[in-house]
Amino acid sequence: MSKTRLISAAHFGRSLTEPMPAVVSGRILSRLVGVICVFLAACCWAAPVAAQGLVVTATPAGEAGLQLDAATISPRLPRPVGIASGGELYTVQPGDTLFRVASRFGVDLASLAVRNNLADLDQIQVGQTLRIDAPAGPGLILPRDGPLARLQFWPWPPVQGQTLVVWLQARTPVTYTLRLGDRAYPVLVEGRRGWAMIPISPLAVPETRPLTLTIGSTSIAVAVPVEAGIFDRYDIPASASEPILSQADKVNAEAVRLAGLFAEVSPLDWTPRSRFVGPFDGDYPRTAPFGSRRTYGGGTAVSAHSGEDFSAPPGTPVLVPAAGLVVLAEPLFVRGNAVVIDHGRGVYTGYWHLSALNVKVGDRVAPGQVLGEVGSTGLSTGAHLHWEMRVNGAAVDPLQWLAPWYTPEQKH
Ligand SMILES: [Zn+2]
Repeated sequence: MSKTRLISAAHFGRSLTEPMPAVVSGRILSRLVGVICVFLAACCWAAPVAAQGLVVTATPAGEAGLQLDAATISPRLPRPVGIASGGELYTVQPGDTLFRVASRFGVDLASLAVRNNLADLDQIQVGQTLRIDAPAGPGLILPRDGPLARLQFWPWPPVQGQTLVVWLQARTPVTYTLRLGDRAYPVLVEGRRGWAMIPISPLAVPETRPLTLTIGSTSIAVAVPVEAGIFDRYDIPASASEPILSQADKVNAEAVRLAGLFAEVSPLDWTPRSRFVGPFDGDYPRTAPFGSRRTYGGGTAVSAHSGEDFSAPPGTPVLVPAAGLVVLAEPLFVRGNAVVIDHGRGVYTGYWHLSALNVKVGDRVAPGQVLGEVGSTGLSTGAHLHWEMRVNGAAVDPLQWLAPWYTPEQKH
């Protein structure tokens, strides 16, 4: 019989600055006025609740080994959150400051100083040993005799549109299953280590969701507070969307085909230890950010932009961000000349509206390789690149994968 260890939480409401209307669903067309991208957002949308902060308040009585700390959570400064048994020791390295050590382990600077009896924050020395307690966050201390040696979430808390990565380290080889809400996500295992990538839809209702991790015969439950992101909002006039809506059959068929492609999880060689690079050699302005809300003709239907749009001159080379396999390279009705790369493990990137295709289906591609050129093919009103990323079937912000803090490897 499995045991369930639950972190209980209370939250207080924080109003959304911009109330979002409830919507129908579905395959909603969008087109960015004045810029360029016309595409299909195959997301569902439900009435949101207010964004929530999270304060961990209680622990089940008598649960030896399970302790909770107050959560200190900043939605704008994602950081690693580690859960370790009894803290760990760290030896100060050349170039370290106490601030850097605290940041590296995701712990509070003042708490770290107090924990190590440091009266002066400048007085650490190379070779000195510091005790690092489990950082704030979910605040779970794993039982010393349990199957897990480490459990880590990053970023914490996850914000709409981000990829939440969960790292696991078991004491002995085990099998894992992981669910967030009613959906299961694959856990990729290497020896005693495992990781999972959970896409948080840009339209996910910002609320606390139960994550359940089963390791052998033990289950651990963690409350995951999905935070609201900050997104621009555009209204697309009916005159702009009507020509597309009138060809809904073609639009829908294309979306269904791509959804089938993105749903495949292949065992390719990409791992979270491989960094992604940007799609350009150079900087080009972002004209429509990921997650931008679109309404149509003043109506209440809302979709979210499923990728990042960059304005770049026609013919600008578009680069492969990470190793992968080309699984689509052809003209599409909505997306124009399109390339989709399967990076393995349920991670895909897509490139729409290209003027030229430099790869073909079946090509193995490497980071930095030119896959095509910027164009304005398909339903587009000017030269731009729409760069899209899918993780386990859902659209996530590809820029998160380029951010300096996003080093997709186990932190400690
Ligand atoms: Zn776009």
